Amino acid sequence: MKAALLYGPEDLRIEDVKTPVCKKEEVLIRVHGVGLCGSDIRTIIHGHHRLEYPQILGHEIAGEIVEIGEGVKGFSPGERVYVSPLVPCYECPACKRGWLGQCENLTVPGTTIPGGFAEYMIVTEDIIKKGQVIKMPHDMSYEEAVMTEPLSSVFSCQEYANVTLGDTVVVIGMGPIGCLQLELAKLRGAKRVIAVEPSRIRLEKAREFGADFIIDPFEVDPVKRVREITGGWGAEVVISANPSTKAQGQAIKMACKRGKVVFFGGVPKGEMTLIDSNFVHYEQITILGHFGYDHMQNARSFDLIADKKIKADRYVTHVLPLEDAMKGVEMAKSGEAIKVVLKP
Ligand SMILES: [Zn+2]
Ligand SMILES: [Zn+2]
Repeated sequence: MKAALLYGPEDLRIEDVKTPVCKKEEVLIRVHGVGLCGSDIRTIIHGHHRLEYPQILGHEIAGEIVEIGEGVKGFSPGERVYVSPLVPCYECPACKRGWLGQCENLTVPGTTIPGGFAEYMIVTEDIIKKGQVIKMPHDMSYEEAVMTEPLSSVFSCQEYANVTLGDTVVVIGMGPIGCLQLELAKLRGAKRVIAVEPSRIRLEKAREFGADFIIDPFEVDPVKRVREITGGWGAEVVISANPSTKAQGQAIKMACKRGKVVFFGGVPKGEMTLIDSNFVHYEQITILGHFGYDHMQNARSFDLIADKKIKADRYVTHVLPLEDAMKGVEMAKSGEAIKVVLKP
């Protein structure tokens, strides 16, 4: 079968590899959609500390069941499924506290085991047994299903920050995550959502996802502009979904008294964010870090997409063959694409 293997930073190769054989407790799927995630892009460019090279990347996976191990029950060939990729160990201190997204020993297709950047993929026993293979309704496309993974993180983030009725929410960074943040915040009852993004194409796109105001931080001072829009008060929740330390520092200054600031996106290793700590002190700002999600948040995100409450198809601006994975990386980096989905 055809697969995209990462041999090291900036060394992604399309190769013919042996189609994996389905064991007794496993399922083999034909991958029909695999999302190119921001984390995949980072891994392709910089590598990943938990990755064993060469590895087949891809953790936002949807496909059709083609083979079922004799020990597996409840599935049939031909069924279309979404595979939720993060498998917690249920044994580490984080898992014992119920924080499955923070598991210290996560098994992840595309990182610790082969992922979906291939024509076929094995769905392992623990993924099946933990209920992480979800059957797709007939009117759900593979592209929509793939969006469950990024939405799960966003869903978890907004539960954590408790985005609620009447809030003003600022989102900095209009990648697929940022756009999902806008749409979900509106669903949770935010009265006003503000998008901050330097790429003009992405900024205009943000309006389609519900942005009431858009701010180009290279054109105007985004902190001042948020204060203007909110009559001087600031935003109840500010989400920094981008890799800039400067944006993180600005996010804090956009928050209202007792406001919450979420650092969602990772920043380049070793870089430090400059924080006005007096502002945090006097205004009683809460700074939250956020990463990951658990299987319940994943299941509910899947339902939001299946029920068309989140219109996932609008995020997928480009569907490319596996061979064009690097082209997809460039398109996502340049801001030309919102979400790229590969079709192996
Ligand atoms: Zn992802
Ligand atoms: Zn664990």
